[in-house]
Amino acid sequence: MTTQTAQTDAQVRADDRAHVFHSWSAQAKIDPLPVAGGEGSSFWDYEGNTYLDFSSQLVNLNLGHQHPDLVAAVQQQAGRLATIQPSMANDVRGELARLIAEVAPDGFEKVFFTNGGAEANEYAVRMARQFTGRRKVLSMYRSYHGSTATAISLTGDPRRWANDIGDNGTVRFFGPYLYRSAFHSTTIEEESQRALEHLEQTILLEGPGTIAAIIIETVVGTNGVLVPPPGYLDGVRGLCDRHGIVYIADEVMVGFGRIGEWFAIDAFDAKPDLITFAKGVNSGYVPLGGVVISDRIAKHFDDAPFPGGLTYSGHPLACAPGVATFEVFRRDGILERVRDLGSRVVEPALRAMAEKHPSVGEVRGRGLFWAIELVRDRETREPLVPFNAAGADAAPMGAFAAAAKEGGVWPFLHFNRTHIAPPLVISEEDLVRGLGVIDEALDVADGYT
Ligand code: PLP
Repeated sequence: MTTQTAQTDAQVRADDRAHVFHSWSAQAKIDPLPVAGGEGSSFWDYEGNTYLDFSSQLVNLNLGHQHPDLVAAVQQQAGRLATIQPSMANDVRGELARLIAEVAPDGFEKVFFTNGGAEANEYAVRMARQFTGRRKVLSMYRSYHGSTATAISLTGDPRRWANDIGDNGTVRFFGPYLYRSAFHSTTIEEESQRALEHLEQTILLEGPGTIAAIIIETVVGTNGVLVPPPGYLDGVRGLCDRHGIVYIADEVMVGFGRIGEWFAIDAFDAKPDLITFAKGVNSGYVPLGGVVISDRIAKHFDDAPFPGGLTYSGHPLACAPGVATFEVFRRDGILERVRDLGSRVVEPALRAMAEKHPSVGEVRGRGLFWAIELVRDRETREPLVPFNAAGADAAPMGAFAAAAKEGGVWPFLHFNRTHIAPPLVISEEDLVRGLGVIDEALDVADGYT
């Protein structure tokens, strides 16, 4: 038997169609783009079309496609020691754990490595349950925490619906979201306060002594780039202290630079007990995720054995590009450029779009992580497509996306929103060009208002 690398659009499509079972899709209804290659913030298909990647793949490609330092790190590590099991000590694994601990908040020294974000959340919850001896976990309705058994039950958005059997110990609450406030707030201060009161009521009515953890995306990602209002996360910390609950910050999407911080929590006044990460830690060159563990929780497992593990925990091929990521971030001032490009280029451009286009209800975000929320009617805030729209119902977003792709930008879409999440290494020129394409594509969305 010979294996052959497929090299034409037709071959790639044929093998994909026949043999690849895709995530989150009705298999007969999808037509995935065959990708021939990529570099920096762009990738291209076999027909010569190049796209500026405004979604960083799944918001993981922080250092862009084929970054020479990351590619070299994987290659060199493969030549040196391709794999080693997790209960042995390994140089690159230890170095990455030390680098992560150095940029984590004070009092976080240990890292448990996983193969991705969902597993990181699974293990964080397991640690919290072992630590507290309690079972329940509180999570937000507007959230995504991954697709494995516990992670999908923590997830608030409709991806949970078909998977959740409803008796897994998860209780959901509303987080702050002023534009569509669950609390009828009119100011950001009111929203923060009322969301905290609602969370406290939820804790009290559920029974504080039954709750192991509260898990919150520091900036809610796929569900809308919801930046927490002042005081909110600090208030969550206070509630956790008062009731002996572990605070898990899910930073799978926002950790490692997306908003211009190593950990997004650094931008807010709060300190969690466990921080989960994945994606940006090595831009997904080899799957990697993990949990950064506060000393208080780590200490619990000094004598009590931690009941869990993974064959590939801290895989050297994944850790090597993680170490290289730290080098690149520091050498190239990635965090600083994210903050600069976000406030100087993206924010003013999006605010101008919001002024100009009747289909734009709200723009919000930070760093290189923004959402444009599209509406049919700015007065009523009726979303451009219904919540969880599919098929014909989602046509206006499909038309917007087609226009963006026609202009050479690959957009991120979720229900009635498009997110602006390019690689953190995008050139200013490409960023401005891509924003121009989004601006033009919004003319199409305007046609549906
Ligand atoms: N948590 C958040 C906030 C995410 O955005 C994601 C993925 O998008 C996950 C967890 C799950 O990560 P993974 O797909 O690596 O399992």
